[in-house]
Amino acid sequence: MKLLIATHNAHKLKEFREILAPLGYEVLGADDVRLSDVEETGKTFRENSYQKALHAVKETGLMTLADDSGLCIHALNDEPGLFSARYAKQNGGYPAVFNVLFDRLKNQKDWSAYFNCCLCLLKPHDLTQPLYFEGQVHGHLTPKIDDSIEKFGYDPIFVPDGYDKTFGGLPADIKNKQSHRSKALEKLVAYLKS
Ligand code: IMP
Repeated sequence: MKLLIATHNAHKLKEFREILAPLGYEVLGADDVRLSDVEETGKTFRENSYQKALHAVKETGLMTLADDSGLCIHALNDEPGLFSARYAKQNGGYPAVFNVLFDRLKNQKDWSAYFNCCLCLLKPHDLTQPLYFEGQVHGHLTPKIDDSIEKFGYDPIFVPDGYDKTFGGLPADIKNKQSHRSKALEKLVAYLKS
């Protein structure tokens, strides 16, 4: 069965493909089907993931998995949250945005934060019945940036609970096991197997 992953991000696609292909799915990425972009106008991770999935299903007719994720910082009322990618862009990209955050947090004791991921599975015959699978990873931000192996997004400044290195400094297999995306994916896999 074909399953479209509505992402142009090669890193995410690889992670999804490795987990879903053994279940018998032919996993396609947005580039494989020349999927056009859609504006994210939702007010929640769920709304955005549904928007992306709906756009993809309407354009391709394929069962689609879309995700929306972001970094939520407690002391900043969960900002930048679903605006994480746009916030980075508006503040000079990575690593410039890290200093913007450190500056906003400089008088705060609490530097705790979490990554959130919402997956939306949408089937072509069931457009009003999205299925959601969510995952979080909790930790804190640090100004001591590790030499990042995987320089993805906010990885270089996020230390997951139970570790003394950032996601950027930890080996990819550890990050991939602990990540918000893999926790959401675990729930999706349990559903697909059931
Ligand atoms: P989207 O889910 O593709 O809309 O993008 C979410 C944004 O959140 C990314 O561009 C990153 O800024 C951030 N983000 C999401 N997941 C991660 C992660 O695993 N590591 C670092 N940053 C992430």
